[in-house]
Amino acid sequence: MVVNQLERMRAIIAQAVAEAKGHLQKVHLLSYGGIAEDQVLTLFAEASRDTPAEGVEAIVLPAGSRYICWNCCGLRFESEDGVCPNCGEVALEVPEEIDFALYKVEAE
Ligand SMILES: [Zn+2]
Repeated sequence: MVVNQLERMRAIIAQAVAEAKGHLQKVHLLSYGGIAEDQVLTLFAEASRDTPAEGVEAIVLPAGSRYICWNCCGLRFESEDGVCPNCGEVALEVPEEIDFALYKVEAE
């Protein structure tokens, strides 16, 4: 599981580096609660070694919810049935095995 998390973090870092138009300054990550913030930062430090993201500041934000509606506006919400309270469409649930995700990158 730890290896999988490290692999996932490597993929996230590759994505962050690809998204950064210019020099990567900060990486914002979402945590879905199944993992401690410290652990996410440790994974980031380990997975970013020898990449352009090495030494870049990582910020971990608690996601708060596993549901995201892509139909209306990317609204995140808590729900039993996954129906978006805003537009009534069934939203996507972040899979159980996803503990963290890339949120956004800052570059200059
Ligand atoms: Zn919606």
